[in-house]
Amino acid sequence: MLFLNELSFAKEMDEKDELKPFRSKFYIPQHNGKDQIYLCGNSLGLQPKSAKDAIDQELKDWAELGVEGHFRGKNPWMYYHHFLTEKAARVVGALPKEVVIMNNLTANLHLMMVSFYKPTKERYKIMMEVSAFPSDQYAMETQARFHGLNPDDAIIELKPREGESTLRTEDILAKIEENKESLAIVMMGGVNYLTGQAFDMKSITEKAHAVGANVGFDLAHAAGNLNLKLHEWGPDFAVWCSYKYLNSGPGGTSGVFVHERHANNPDLVRFAGWWGHEESSRFQMKKGFIPMEGAVGWQLSNAQIFPMAIHKASLEIFDEAGIENLSKKSELLTGYLYFILADFKEHLNVITPETAADRGCQLSIIVKEDGKKLFDYLESNGILPDWREPNVIRMSPIPLYNTFEEVYEIGVALKSFFENK
Ligand SMILES: *Cc1c(COP(=O)(O)O)cnc(C)c1O
Repeated sequence: MLFLNELSFAKEMDEKDELKPFRSKFYIPQHNGKDQIYLCGNSLGLQPKSAKDAIDQELKDWAELGVEGHFRGKNPWMYYHHFLTEKAARVVGALPKEVVIMNNLTANLHLMMVSFYKPTKERYKIMMEVSAFPSDQYAMETQARFHGLNPDDAIIELKPREGESTLRTEDILAKIEENKESLAIVMMGGVNYLTGQAFDMKSITEKAHAVGANVGFDLAHAAGNLNLKLHEWGPDFAVWCSYKYLNSGPGGTSGVFVHERHANNPDLVRFAGWWGHEESSRFQMKKGFIPMEGAVGWQLSNAQIFPMAIHKASLEIFDEAGIENLSKKSELLTGYLYFILADFKEHLNVITPETAADRGCQLSIIVKEDGKKLFDYLESNGILPDWREPNVIRMSPIPLYNTFEEVYEIGVALKSFFENK
């Protein structure tokens, strides 16, 4: 694609964009009476206008039916997770029985580690990327301790080569090979939150399995962003949150993938709760846990209707747009931002890989001087990226609601900042 740094070009791209009508399904935050250029969808996705009706429906059923809403509500609460499964499975490229929506992300990560990290004397190491999201670091650290291990010994961190910012797939695979005797599990992000690098999940999964290790991915920055093929790639598990690219509100619910090959294994160790028990006999309230088949067998508690109602509304939008279409537009939209930023090479470095296959929506930028000043300047001019200590500005144009014209405007603002510096 040949990009041009011209307003008319950006407008033409928006005109041709078949996903353009989706922007009107979201509330866009305002700045001085105008739409803000919102680039933080990787952190908290914008509110779908349909979220309110979704919540109101459940409030209404609760008001009118009380406990009977579990069975007589429009969307009976007893089966609520079922209403999200198929759409969520399409977003991550999984079979419906491999997916369940429940809890929050970090809690689900721990639940999955209980089932898929079973260290032995020989095979006990966890491999993850350096500078993983802190919650994941704390989770892996405390998982190691939970099994009586020293995290410094049990955790292998994948580090970029000297002078590079992102990991090379060949180096990840070599590190797996190097630790083939002692590696119990590879648990890493699908997209790293800081650099925006998307990892080659297919190759990593194949390699880890070839040496006898399990694989899990934290897809917080990948779900709703990349065109994932979880079933085909075959990791043992994956977890993700719903409030970043999936636009399901602050602290929203989370998704879990458990590959089909484990789905019907009742012997897999897990921390169980009543909602994971056989649905048909759940209310007989008997002793003896019998897990349901599939990812649903990991559920603990009855569904959190309100966050799940928002997630349901949001997934309907994804279903309508189609994750493949979104990912195609995202390549162009973020590709355009890459192109615009290239004019400012003397002032900033983009550390996210340029190749579309190695990234998603987000670009991470290191500004050579006065990064924080630039961030403040953009913010006061109606452009909202985010700032990650010590020196990273992240910008994530979102194919559902950002436009090519907005990306063009980022270039205009950068130009005026650097000219007047
Ligand atoms: C956002 C994010 C989290 C946050 O998890 P919560 O439990 O939902 O607060 C964890 N891990 C990664 C990789 C994230 O990007």
